[in-house]
Amino acid sequence: MPAKMMRAMVLEEFGKPLQLREVPVPEIGDEEALVQVHACGLCGTDLKISGGKLAGIPTPLIMGHEPAGVVVEVGSRVTNVKVGDHVALALYVTCGQCEFCRTGNESLCVNLVGRPGFELNGGFAEYFKVPARNLFRVAPHVPFEQVALLADCIATIWHAVCRRAEVKIGQTVVVVGAGGLGVHAIQLLKLAGARVIAVDVAEDKLEFARQWGADVTIHSRQEDVVSRVKELTDGLGAHAVLEFVGLPETIAADLRFLRRGGVLTLVGYAPDKPFTADSADIVLLEKRIVGSRANTKQDLVEVIRLMEEGKIRGAITNRYRLEEVNEALEALRRGEILGRVVVVP
Ligand SMILES: [Zn+2]
Ligand SMILES: [Zn+2]
Repeated sequence: MPAKMMRAMVLEEFGKPLQLREVPVPEIGDEEALVQVHACGLCGTDLKISGGKLAGIPTPLIMGHEPAGVVVEVGSRVTNVKVGDHVALALYVTCGQCEFCRTGNESLCVNLVGRPGFELNGGFAEYFKVPARNLFRVAPHVPFEQVALLADCIATIWHAVCRRAEVKIGQTVVVVGAGGLGVHAIQLLKLAGARVIAVDVAEDKLEFARQWGADVTIHSRQEDVVSRVKELTDGLGAHAVLEFVGLPETIAADLRFLRRGGVLTLVGYAPDKPFTADSADIVLLEKRIVGSRANTKQDLVEVIRLMEEGKIRGAITNRYRLEEVNEALEALRRGEILGRVVVVP
């Protein structure tokens, strides 16, 4: 019997547009599930992948690391999901055995199997397959395009806010970079009871940040961020800073408006652009700098519940069809996108 075919957007050569191809629907193993894609998010990481900026990406590759959909087939040993379930994907297919996996730090797994849309075929297609242990049920009343934002965007912010920055009610937190991730940080920080100051260089992004709940916005090219933050915090500085840009100059500024004992959490990063920090500042003022990589399955489960209860909502501003993925990538590259993008097959 000839294999059933599906449409997919395939990365065949780095730096070139993805190609719309007819490819076989994946065949699943005993512990895998086949998911029909109903929506797939797209973010700046896709530009890094298609541009050949990340190590270990194979070609040809079906990109798309933020898929959401319905389980249509399960392997013989799968028990956690069944046909018909609406599901979100935990991106990191990990070994489950190493010390980092055992201690709930899965994004640090030292024997990573891969991630759909990175090392494994992903969701810019009609179907994708994945080990079923990476799928988590979402109530059917949640729209698929919202589900698509849970795993890479919202759970990653949750991880940064709750696990790494450990933000507490009443604290003042500065969000540096009010882009697609930043506005979700604002939303979660408000939910956590923090006062949020958003910083950006673009007025439209600051306006967007205000729409999503930022208490104060600062245009960093028109105002002195350090003195403004100090002014707003009785001269002490912010309890926490969430850094989404990751450039040496923004990190240097962050450390100047972070209070004694405060924590700077880096979510955005700029490879090969090292920053400097004054060790006296770190030691004598007990400032902490921590990184926050992706999220864990437990983070994902927690944000699924919040979304089912209507407490958080993905800020989707742009929608594209499967065959328009290249246009979406171009719009992202030109910086035209305020919130998040979803691709619908
Ligand atoms: Zn992403
Ligand atoms: Zn592991």
